[in-house]
Amino acid sequence: MNIKPIFNKKQGQPIIIAGPCSAESEEQILKTAEGLSKGNIDLFRAGIWKPRTRPGSFEGVGRIGLKWLQKVKEETGMKVTTEVANREHVFEALKHNIDVLWLGARTTVNPFSVQEIADALEGTNVPVMIKNPINPDLKLWLGAIERIYKAGIENIAVIHRGFSHHGDSGFRNIPRWQIPIELKRQFPNLEVICDNSHICGRRDILSDVAQKAMDLDFDGLMTESHPDPDNAWSDAAQQITPATFLKLVDNLVLRKTTSDNTAFIESLVHLRSEIDEIDSELINTLGRRMQIADKIGMYKKENNIAILQTDRWNEILDNQIAKGKNVGLSENFMSIILRAIHQESINHQAEIMNKAQLEDLQGK
Ligand code: PEP
Ligand code: MN
Repeated sequence: MNIKPIFNKKQGQPIIIAGPCSAESEEQILKTAEGLSKGNIDLFRAGIWKPRTRPGSFEGVGRIGLKWLQKVKEETGMKVTTEVANREHVFEALKHNIDVLWLGARTTVNPFSVQEIADALEGTNVPVMIKNPINPDLKLWLGAIERIYKAGIENIAVIHRGFSHHGDSGFRNIPRWQIPIELKRQFPNLEVICDNSHICGRRDILSDVAQKAMDLDFDGLMTESHPDPDNAWSDAAQQITPATFLKLVDNLVLRKTTSDNTAFIESLVHLRSEIDEIDSELINTLGRRMQIADKIGMYKKENNIAILQTDRWNEILDNQIAKGKNVGLSENFMSIILRAIHQESINHQAEIMNKAQLEDLQGK
């Protein structure tokens, strides 16, 4: 594949895509666009047809929203993009001169849908951005790129929006940076854009993730922005005002990629980001372990059983030290870490028992 860039920005200038999760009204669209047009925005985004996890929630305003996007172009000169999920959407979007189309994560996952869109694109040359599939499957992502490319679309970019996962990771969609990094490695010309909004699912970590994407030499950002984020009709928790977004962009530290030691620096950054991700998984796992210890503490209290049971503790030590050895962790390290975890569990349980005891004494 000889994929061509859509944006072609200079080194050190990230591609900036922003706009609301969903178009809600003409007023909301124009207000967001007006706020964003004060910065250097490459593309204004808004979802017109919204793929929702469960029925009954707001599913997008439909075609009327395309007219509002046309108005954004007329009034601000910004180019516009929307998500397409079937043939009909492609025809409607092209009829309304939408500059760039994007495929959402729930579409990339389904080769039937991607092929339907590819067929509808045949004979056009509209640039297309392809989000990663919801599951961490690089082949599926690549397959979608290939289908769109085979339809004759050369200007293709990808959007990394993180991956579904089980349990609490602190992210709405876990980044698994290695997957887009691998895509970048295989296709050095492919522009990779980080959708920090859908990775984070919350405002407080948006700028950290945006910075990490810049540190990893991603080509740009796609961020959801709404004039009244708390009252947005979809994805309220992750949206920020245009002014906050422009500040976030201003505060980004753009790293130089030119250095005698580029390869070394890049691999260091990649490895460190993997370590950060694993560390946060470890901490979340430890937090979950302590919650279970708390529950055990309650049961022990109810049944009047001592906190420490030596047999059980010896069993944990033996089993886990053996498992640690299998993955290259020394006995010394394993015993330090297991003792620390165990001590923390005891502290949690003791606190629960003492608190219950105190409440008994106080007659609560
Ligand atoms: C969106 O961009 O609003 C959206 C629905 O994203 P995703 O396809 O990444 O879930
Ligand atoms: Mn959204």
